[in-house]
Amino acid sequence: CGICGVVGLRHATPIVFEGLRRLEYRGYDSAGIATLVDGRVERRRAAGKLDNLGRLLEESPLGGTTGIGHTRWATHGAPTACNAHPHGTERVAIVHNGIIENFEALRRELEAVGQVFQTETDSETIALMVDYYLTQGLAPKDAALKTLNRLEGAYAVAMIFAGHEGLMIGACHSAPLAVGYGDGEMFLGSDSLALAPLTRRITYMEDGDCVVITPAGADFMRFDGTPVTRKEQTTALAA
Ligand code: GLU
Repeated sequence: CGICGVVGLRHATPIVFEGLRRLEYRGYDSAGIATLVDGRVERRRAAGKLDNLGRLLEESPLGGTTGIGHTRWATHGAPTACNAHPHGTERVAIVHNGIIENFEALRRELEAVGQVFQTETDSETIALMVDYYLTQGLAPKDAALKTLNRLEGAYAVAMIFAGHEGLMIGACHSAPLAVGYGDGEMFLGSDSLALAPLTRRITYMEDGDCVVITPAGADFMRFDGTPVTRKEQTTALAA
């Protein structure tokens, strides 16, 4: 339901958690955050209120400067911690808003090549498809684009990749996603409200856009890889 992500120099978890707080108004049933810790994907997820995730993070903190988070409004699979986002493997973590209409066919296809699903969600198909292409030797951007070309439905996604500190890939199709510009750090959010305390410099992505984000900036492209230019705006929202 809500997405927030950051790449940069600061501890990612508090920034992402605060972003999720600002997305609470959309409603949700569970939440989670994934970061890169020494290049490895680590995640914490909890059913129920963000306070539950907050308590889990206190008991078991999550370091790293590259992170993504999600508030989930379950459409496929019960609102449990296991079905909460981020989903992924040791190679990739993803968060997803919306619905993947063709997930059952994609899931069967992935199971046929040996991918093992842990959840009942439509979203996990995105994670396991990107993971599959990574195991085939594709670079993160190519694995992401190849996957995006297979997805049907309305979605916004954010992805991070093991061994790729400072890299975050976003994409959207019939669902909103905004890129925020900081000073030596970059953000991704479902809307400018999520990013309001972080930056007022925003680019709203267009339908069928993918973005490759590093602390230095954002490269926008279509799902076929064609580069596109997207305007940066200054939001009127007060932080
Ligand atoms: N369809 C996904 C799920 O059930 C994402 C729901 C959402 O937008 O939060 O996990």
